Amino acid sequence: MRMYELRKKWYRAYTKGRYFLGMQSNQSSESLNSRLHKNLDRRMSLVDLLEHSDHCLSRIRKNEAELDATASDTVPFTELAAEPLEKSDALIYTPVMFKKVKQQIEQLSKWEVAEVTKNDDVVLYTVARKESRHVTYDVRFDMAGPLLQSVNCHCLKMYSEEIPCAHTFSVLKFIN
Ligand SMILES: [Zn+2]
Repeated sequence: MRMYELRKKWYRAYTKGRYFLGMQSNQSSESLNSRLHKNLDRRMSLVDLLEHSDHCLSRIRKNEAELDATASDTVPFTELAAEPLEKSDALIYTPVMFKKVKQQIEQLSKWEVAEVTKNDDVVLYTVARKESRHVTYDVRFDMAGPLLQSVNCHCLKMYSEEIPCAHTFSVLKFIN
């Protein structure tokens, strides 16, 4: 079953926004899984199982609340020579999310805007991979006059993981 082996590549597009025992799909469900499997017993009744999952969730939430508290008075470290994008994002994201965003910012130098198409209030940036230019993604900027309404990249990283992708960052850099 190749589909099953490749599940990590496609499942996020389908699980986005669904409800999983009180966790959002964009949160790492691995921590819930690993906690759920601890102390799990095949003789448990459904009620036991629900109580167990409730207990696990409240522990995860407590942990997250503590992480949020730490995040609210910490700004992740950025190098002096870091991209301006990275510096401003360090102020917006929690340290955990910032790590993921930073990975995307580090990838942005691999991409460049190859084509810009304007159509009324929609600007489409075709971003190509520098080393293999046939690999492209379209980043769509929806404008209302001079105001930016939304940005979407067809890689769907923002949609599935709520992290802006390297393609979007390369457009932001392109337009300063
Ligand atoms: Zn993208």
